[in-house]
Amino acid sequence: MITRKLFVTTALPYANAPFHLGHIMEYIQADIWVRHQRMAGHEVHFVCADDAHGAPIMIAAEKAGITPQEFVAQIAAGRKQYLDGFHIEFNNWHSTDGPENHALSQDIYRKLKAAGFITSKTIEQFYDPVKNMFLPDRYIKGECPKCGAKDQYGDSCEVCSAVYAPTEVKNPYSVLTGATPIMKSSEHFFFKLSDQKCVDFLRTWALQDKRLQSEVANKCKEWLEGEGGLGDWDISRDAPYFGIEIPDQPGKYFYVWLDAPVGYLASLKNYFGKIGQDFDAFMQDPSTEQIHFIGKDITYFHTLFWPAMLKFSGYKTPDNVYAHGFVTVSGEKMSKSRGTGISPLRYLDIGMNPEWLRYYFAAKLNAKVEDLDMNPEDFVARVNSDLIGKYINIASRASGFISKRFDGVVNTAWATSDDPFITKLRNASAEIQALYEAREFGKALRAVMEQADIINAYVDANKPWELAKQAENDAKLQEVCSRLLEAFRILTIFLKPVLPHLASQVEAQFNIPAMNWSDVDTPLPHLHKIKPYVHLMQRVDGSIFDQLFDAPAPQNAPVESDTQQIEELAPEIKIDDFAKIDLRIAKIVHCEHVEGSDKLLRLTLDVGEGKTRNVFSGIKSAYQPEQLIGKFTVMVANLAPRKMKFGMSEGMVLAASAANEKSNPGLYILEAWPGAEPGMRVR
Ligand SMILES: [Zn+2]
Repeated sequence: MITRKLFVTTALPYANAPFHLGHIMEYIQADIWVRHQRMAGHEVHFVCADDAHGAPIMIAAEKAGITPQEFVAQIAAGRKQYLDGFHIEFNNWHSTDGPENHALSQDIYRKLKAAGFITSKTIEQFYDPVKNMFLPDRYIKGECPKCGAKDQYGDSCEVCSAVYAPTEVKNPYSVLTGATPIMKSSEHFFFKLSDQKCVDFLRTWALQDKRLQSEVANKCKEWLEGEGGLGDWDISRDAPYFGIEIPDQPGKYFYVWLDAPVGYLASLKNYFGKIGQDFDAFMQDPSTEQIHFIGKDITYFHTLFWPAMLKFSGYKTPDNVYAHGFVTVSGEKMSKSRGTGISPLRYLDIGMNPEWLRYYFAAKLNAKVEDLDMNPEDFVARVNSDLIGKYINIASRASGFISKRFDGVVNTAWATSDDPFITKLRNASAEIQALYEAREFGKALRAVMEQADIINAYVDANKPWELAKQAENDAKLQEVCSRLLEAFRILTIFLKPVLPHLASQVEAQFNIPAMNWSDVDTPLPHLHKIKPYVHLMQRVDGSIFDQLFDAPAPQNAPVESDTQQIEELAPEIKIDDFAKIDLRIAKIVHCEHVEGSDKLLRLTLDVGEGKTRNVFSGIKSAYQPEQLIGKFTVMVANLAPRKMKFGMSEGMVLAASAANEKSNPGLYILEAWPGAEPGMRVR
């Protein structure tokens, strides 16, 4: 076997907030792929880092009254509990503010400059006259110059994926102050992406060797061949800026998107420093494969700027960039206010098994750039009927007899290479490995479950519980149960990239060393003794999703200083933005408990429409239904209906709560003064 040398990364998360579920999905996807490679005996270095630089972190740190370095250190300190919690095993986690990244970014810049790929020009740039600073792209919003979508950031459009200069945005405003920005001139440095050499290189790089998914390659083609072609890329920012200084240009810093991907190399270099491996030798080795897992929103940076930067500074270019879609919840974008935000830490805190989520994500992941929908009913069905019903049950049905009747001793004398039962199972291994390799995890798990079905049919045909009734069947019973345990062992190898913790429990119970792909063909030794069965995994109780969804999502909360008493104000909006929200007086004509939910009340509301609306509200902790019936309150009447576990919710009632739940855990529903009638608009 040829041992591959793999350098694998996930996208660097921005260090201004804890992880959300989308991060965890990407890490699980990459972690499964990496574990598959490790099980195949390849050399894998799986690294990531915090993306520490840029104006948003500088501004957030300023608000919190700490240095940017302290700010990112606080965020970094919170990373481990997520990664460990979901069994995500990076070899290294670093920061783009580390010394390796400063050195590598400056080196790449110097080499690009020497090769003639850096140019400078004085540009007019937006400046916030209230805040007295040049406005970072993300602090300008306006209409996309390509598709006209409103409220798009100053650097890229979330609707059509266009990337542009902030000055191209129509009707711009400063996110910091709401002020209309003024133009001010400053010298900026540019990477000459428009250089024909770049264009020629990228056309070859992006379109050859299937290094990109076809959807992404097509997008690249559009970008390369689109009107006007590629523009030069502005890579500098003026002080004040938290970042890496541009060599020989005091007061000028690299735009965070220049040094962020260099952080991949910096993290690897930092890691190699720890383990004593030669970074330069590894990166110069032509057999080294460099693979990036990313979200679909950052393909432009990873398939144009990043490979071109590396190429023309003489570094190795990426072998593959694999993009994934976003996580949605029951078909909608995750939203804290709608109660569809899922905090990964809350998931762990309420006792949900991290491997349920790994299995669920894996079952829905494929090699395409598709969004992944998290649907509670689907989640429960897949975990309970497939994972528990088809897989775990094999062990629980067979282990008890082996422990109680045969002192834990298995009989595998039958497990010769030509035994048809075991041969069928072993033969599935190549296909399953190929599916993991191709990132077709959903198909891989379906192939595993097909094998589990065959084994369960064997259970039904041989009925160990019937055999156990007659002592003269003992030999047969021991063999049947041993076959089941050997089959279970092989299924566990098949599932190990997805369920690493469970696999280690099985290894401990079976009294065997850690298993790899090569162990598929090596059965449990004949007369090997296993330990008594301990139940491996519980079923999901669907009602646990109430606790998951109804909780506030603390990962999105701003970092608060100790002196802050109230929740930070949301960014300023225009009157037109407010007008989009249709608030109406609603009469609570009926209210009742929701069976199976400890958070929700079901409200029947009259909004003067000649019919009532059904709304679920997470206010059970604060009110008894009879307190609310007959009251007049305020509801958001034009919120898209949302399908919840207990039915459709057709709006949202308004309630006040404190930012700090500890200081005041209460919830206070709004009530209208006498005279207000159902259907009146609140404005
Ligand atoms: Zn657009």
